[in-house]
Amino acid sequence: MVKKVLIANRGEIALRVLRACKELGISTVAVHSTADNAAMHVRLADESVCIGPPPSRDSYLNIPSILAACEISGADAVHPGYGFLSENARFADILAAHGVTFIGPTAEHIRVMGDKIEAKRTAKRLGIPVVPGSPGAVTDDDEAARIADDIGFPVLVKASAGGGGRGMKVARSRAELPVALQTARAEAGAAFGDDAVYIEKYLGKPRHIEIQVFGDGAGNAIHLGERDCSLQRRHQKVWEEANSPALTPQQRAEIGEICANAVAELGYRGAGTIEFLYEDGQFYFIEMNTRLQVEHPVTEAITGLDLVHEQIRVASGQGLSAKQSEIVFSGHAIECRINAEDPKTFAPSPGTISHYHTPGGLGVRVDSGVYQGYKIPPFYDSLIGKLIVHGRNRTECMMRLRRALDEIVVDGVKTTLPLFRDLVDNADVGAGNYDIHWLEHYLAGDAQG
Ligand code: ADP
Repeated sequence: MVKKVLIANRGEIALRVLRACKELGISTVAVHSTADNAAMHVRLADESVCIGPPPSRDSYLNIPSILAACEISGADAVHPGYGFLSENARFADILAAHGVTFIGPTAEHIRVMGDKIEAKRTAKRLGIPVVPGSPGAVTDDDEAARIADDIGFPVLVKASAGGGGRGMKVARSRAELPVALQTARAEAGAAFGDDAVYIEKYLGKPRHIEIQVFGDGAGNAIHLGERDCSLQRRHQKVWEEANSPALTPQQRAEIGEICANAVAELGYRGAGTIEFLYEDGQFYFIEMNTRLQVEHPVTEAITGLDLVHEQIRVASGQGLSAKQSEIVFSGHAIECRINAEDPKTFAPSPGTISHYHTPGGLGVRVDSGVYQGYKIPPFYDSLIGKLIVHGRNRTECMMRLRRALDEIVVDGVKTTLPLFRDLVDNADVGAGNYDIHWLEHYLAGDAQG
């Protein structure tokens, strides 16, 4: 087992990883920017190292500083959390070259899945259903038009290097295609330094359903069911649940098995998430994330497995703690992402938390890095915590969520909590009747329920 883990992240996920390490008797090293001197992950870690000034590129993305922190502290492993360097293949390579264990997949697998065209090609080869589209990048507009005609409009132009919903444009007709291609290329070039784009069938009313997978790196893999993350705003997930209200146990088992087999064949190591759009009973692969996801706690709630424990076990060469036949899905879980943002405009709301009270009781979990008096710095993303509730079924889960949302207090800054108090009482949400556009319509006032 690894002995000392450096956590190359901040906020709630740094704490989340730290807790898992403590339970396993592993020492922890926090790294932090000068803006995070008083952060909870710094306070709770066994050791901490300041790695630079507030901007992420100078601290949490600064590979030489993080490497130096490994040397100073003698950490033998790095957990990257999510975001920051978690899907940076070069970082994984550099750590390996320095004899430090990267708690994640191989650099090669990060690279393949980080390139959307390559990822889609690989998924298809491994038997995963993909969205119909161009076989690779499209460079020629005439060729693009032919492909789009074949697929049928509307189509979506997507950046191969895409992320966070950037570099994506819909073309509803042949006439709209040249502009869509041009703007997607320009956006992708500016955002990612790579202007390769490809074309996909645009799905009108899909749900976002993703499968949690785990591989041991030696050809064994399991799946831990799905998460439904259809409630999104600007492609950012807001509310996630497991199981999906849309799937039957048989569909779950089928798509889960396809994913687990694919990951086993790939020889994948660690946690991964295979993301799909789901429409009319069909799954369409969109991407694979080669890291722990923000929403992993809903999977933990229904399986009882600690995903960070599993990541550490696998990275230490000890294999997975459970076989597929031992995974039992129990009840229903929902996660609400609490952002320090205006609940109507979603403008960031940094500042000092004047009052903070977390809910408790059966089936309630709060993962957060904040505390009363904590000053939320303006430099990082606005996620300040996650409320996760678990019940024996979806109805009980919703009852419990309503109660927990009544109890929680975060004052001094604006948060997205009022939005969740509305959503939990909404008829469509209550019925699990929503697609990926539902929340945007709801926020725009053309409520469907
Ligand atoms: P990114 O890596 O930029 O987040 P994804 O491929 O994961 O890009 O897509 C982000 C979101 O864009 C999806 O969750 C979905 O809402 C939408 N999307 C992606 N592909 C399609 C498609 N073919 N049809 C309709 N919507 C799509």
